[in-house]
Amino acid sequence: MDRCVVSIDLGGSHAAVAVVQGAKLLASREIELDHAQDLRPVLDIFANAVRELLRELQIPAKDCLGLALGFCGLADGRIGRVISTNKKYEDAPGIDFNEWSMRELGLRFAIENDARMALLGERHAGAAHGYDNVVMITLGTGIGGAALIEGKLLRGKHAQAGCLGGHLPAKVGGRLCTCGAVGCSEAEASGWALPIMAKEWKGFEHSALAQREKIDFRALFELAKAGDRVALEIREYCLQVWATAAVGLIHAYDPELIVIGGGVMRSANVILPHIQQFVNEHAWTPWGKVKIVAAELGNHAGLFGAEPLLTGNV
Ligand SMILES: [Zn+2]
Repeated sequence: MDRCVVSIDLGGSHAAVAVVQGAKLLASREIELDHAQDLRPVLDIFANAVRELLRELQIPAKDCLGLALGFCGLADGRIGRVISTNKKYEDAPGIDFNEWSMRELGLRFAIENDARMALLGERHAGAAHGYDNVVMITLGTGIGGAALIEGKLLRGKHAQAGCLGGHLPAKVGGRLCTCGAVGCSEAEASGWALPIMAKEWKGFEHSALAQREKIDFRALFELAKAGDRVALEIREYCLQVWATAAVGLIHAYDPELIVIGGGVMRSANVILPHIQQFVNEHAWTPWGKVKIVAAELGNHAGLFGAEPLLTGNV
């Protein structure tokens, strides 16, 4: 029987703390972190949440395999540290997580970038089960990426290989990205770029989008479905950016499967056929066709990446 693991998925504005066993989520807590700046105070919140969950489940910490943290920035699972952050939790590179975890909870610690964790999770218990060559794309506020090649998570010398899939260039002379590059797929078609793009779009002021308080993918896909011209044009543009990114990722990492996650996959019925067709027509894969599928484990796929990460089976 699989041993329990404690798993934390840390995003920019919230976190999930959970106890997981195999493909089962035994218990979890959602924690709002909108106003958090530094990570050290948040670790105290995590430690308390873990103690509470284990107490409720009546599982002693010593029966758990360890604690794994999926981090929303560059992290190196091999040395258990955060390498670089993006405007939040900037104290994270100075934290000795293993020391914290052992001291507070008596749990062995492992860390990885959140997109890599999501890929490990989908492979362990979701859409990529049974595959050794996989690219994961998460479409959210930003665009996350991760690659698994011949069963091994791609990390690279500086721990940034594979997880910058959203920062492959999609447009020459495009928008300046938060990463410093220009025209990244994230800067052209992500949650943060969408309102900026919409307001610059020709005819925006006459679009139903202009009436929305919040311009997000939910509003975009809803209004496009209703036939709003500007929403349709922007949706088409985003689909093209994502499909172009998918071909780039195929040429870079040679996957047999691309798993796409993120809240926008509520509209998978529109997104998947578009990307699959573009990939069929434009990717150079003489061996066959790369399959494009939706993630199965939802927002917190990363929680299920804890076990493979802690067992070193990646
Ligand atoms: Zn970028």
